This record gives sequence, structure tokens and C-alpha cells, in this order.
Amino acid sequence: MEEYRSKRDFRRTPEPIGGEVPSRGPGRIYVIQRHHASHLHYDLRLEKDGVLKSWAIPKEPPESPGIRRLAVQTEDHPIEYADFEGIIPEGMYGAGKVEIWDRGTYEPIEEGEDKWVFRINGERLRGEYCLIKLKGSGGKNWLFFKKKGG
Ligand code: MN
Repeated sequence: MEEYRSKRDFRRTPEPIGGEVPSRGPGRIYVIQRHHASHLHYDLRLEKDGVLKSWAIPKEPPESPGIRRLAVQTEDHPIEYADFEGIIPEGMYGAGKVEIWDRGTYEPIEEGEDKWVFRINGERLRGEYCLIKLKGSGGKNWLFFKKKGG
């Protein structure tokens, strides 16, 4: 969370500072925010260990198998960020409009160092999805896709 806070001036951005927020009942939080920053992208966030693990996806996330999207891992975000929608002011980190594109819960199936498999229960995305870490990218670049038959 240190990296998250160090990038932002909370006197000027409406984004949450983040505190000690207990988990919100059964099912881990899943959310994708559409972020109209300098380049439109989609921020995938998955609750794990009291934070939202986060990836920026440059193109629309796939609703069916056969489409693989690059997902660039970004800094952990506070749990409260799952509800955030608003405008990050110009000159701020990530300036632009943030809106919730999909939300719900997810169930982990596999959580390895280089591979996550999980079932998304969202409004747009439903079923089994994978995140696979690409080698030689400093660990930041992953592939995000829906599993066949998932
Ligand atoms: Mn973003």
C-alpha cells in the first residue's frame, strides 16, 4: 500500500486513502474499472490478503475463450477502491475518469507464483479465468484470458 499512497496526493484526488477494512463477507471482491486515463484501459482488481491485487488491461477484457489480453500488474490498491468511481484531477497520477465496468466476487482455484486460476462471478464476466505471468518482463506482464469450457 506504500507504493499506492506514495503516488497520490490525497488532498487533491478523490481516491480512497485506504484503512483497515475487514473483508465484506463471503466471496473475495472482484472488480474491473474502466479508466479513461491518457490511454483508455481496464483495471482488474482481485481481493487477496487484505488488499486489491491489480492489473491494467489495455483492451476490453474477454467475455469468451480464445482472446488473450496483456495484463500489466500495478501496485496493490486498498479494499475501498473497489467502490471508487469518479474523476482523478488533471496533473494527478492516473488523471481521468474511473467507472466500474464489472463487479462481483471470485473464487480462487489455483494461486501460484506465476499462475492464477479463478472463477469470476460478475455481471459481464462469468466463469473460469486465468492469469499467467510472462517470463522476462520483470514480473509485471501477465496474460489474462477465459479458459476453454470455463
Ligand atoms: Mn488505471
